[in-house]
Amino acid sequence: MSRVLIERYRDRLPVGAATPVVSLGEGSTPLVRAARLSERLGVELWLKLELANPTGSFKDRGMTLAVSKAVEERAPAVVVASTGNTASSAAAYAAKAGLPALVLTSRGTAGAKVAQARMYGARVLEVRGSFDEALAAARELERRGTHALVNSLNPYRVQGQKTLAFELVEELGGAPDAVALPYGGGGNTRAVFLGFEELGSMPRLLPVQAASRADTLASAIRIATPVHADEVAEAVGRSDGRVLTASDDEIVRAWQTLAVEEGVFCEPSSAASLAGVEKAGLPRGSRVVCVVTGHGLKDPTLAAEHAAQPTEVDSDLDSILEAAQ
Ligand SMILES: *Cc1c(COP(=O)(O)O)cnc(C)c1O
Repeated sequence: MSRVLIERYRDRLPVGAATPVVSLGEGSTPLVRAARLSERLGVELWLKLELANPTGSFKDRGMTLAVSKAVEERAPAVVVASTGNTASSAAAYAAKAGLPALVLTSRGTAGAKVAQARMYGARVLEVRGSFDEALAAARELERRGTHALVNSLNPYRVQGQKTLAFELVEELGGAPDAVALPYGGGGNTRAVFLGFEELGSMPRLLPVQAASRADTLASAIRIATPVHADEVAEAVGRSDGRVLTASDDEIVRAWQTLAVEEGVFCEPSSAASLAGVEKAGLPRGSRVVCVVTGHGLKDPTLAAEHAAQPTEVDSDLDSILEAAQ
C-alpha cells in the first residue's frame, strides 16, 4: 500500500499519467481504538488521527491534489486566503513543488499556524480589511492567471479529502455506524459524504459545530457562516445523521479527555467531534469514528492555559515525593 495518497487512490481521483504528484506522505493516518472512552460511553469508539498528516491537519489530503493539479495546469504560484491550517498546508505543498505561495490574512491574526506557513517560505500579507476582502483579492489573482487558488473553493480539495472515507471502510472492513467530525465551513463533511457515497455504504454523519460559531475558542471552526451549509444539510439528511452543537466548555472538556484518557493531543476544534458524540445519544454498541482533525501543537498557548499547572519544588526527594501526591 502506497503512503502517497494520490498513488493509493489513483483510480478514484481526477489525475492522469501526466499529473506530477506533489506529496509529503499524506493520508494513511492511524485509526486507534479508544478503549477507555468506549467503555464509558457504551459505544465502540475509534479515533482517526488526521493530526498525523505532514503539516498536522487533514487539509493535506486535499492540498496534495490541489497543488499537483496546479503544477499540471502550469500555474506560476498558489494563493490562499487563510490564517489557519489551509495556509500551512498550501505553503508546505507549494514549497515541495517549488512554487511560490502567497498567503493573505486579515488583520490581527498571528500564532503558530502563520509561523508554520512562514517557515515553509510563504509570503504572508496581512490585508487591511476583512477575510472576505482578502478572499475576493485571491479570487481575482486566480482570474488573472497569476496564481492557482487553493482555498476550499478549489474542487480538487474535496476530491482529495474524500479519501478519508475510503480509509475508514478499508480499515474497519465496512462503514462504521456513525462518523463525527468538527463542522467549520463544512468542506470536510461534504468530502466525507462524497467518499462514502462513492463506496455505496453510508454511516450517519454527525458534523459538530461550536454553539458560538463567531467567537468560539476553537479557532479552526470559528466560522460565522459556513460556505458549505447546503451540502452539509444534504449530507446529514441523506445519511440519517444530524448537525450537533457543542459549547466551548464541552469542547474544552472533550479536548482534555482525549489527551488525559486516550493520549491524543489535538486542537480544541478537533475535540468537537467527541463533544458531539458524548451528547448524541447513540445506540449502545454503535461503532463510531471521531475524526481528530488537527494537532495540539498548532495552538500551544491555549494548551498551556488549559492543562494542569506545574508546581515549583525543592530538589530533595522528600519535597518531590510530597508535591507529587
Ligand atoms: C479546517 C479545519 C476544520 C474545519 O473543517 P471544515 O471543512 O471547514 O468544516 C476542523 N478542524 C481543523 C483542525 C481544521 O483544520
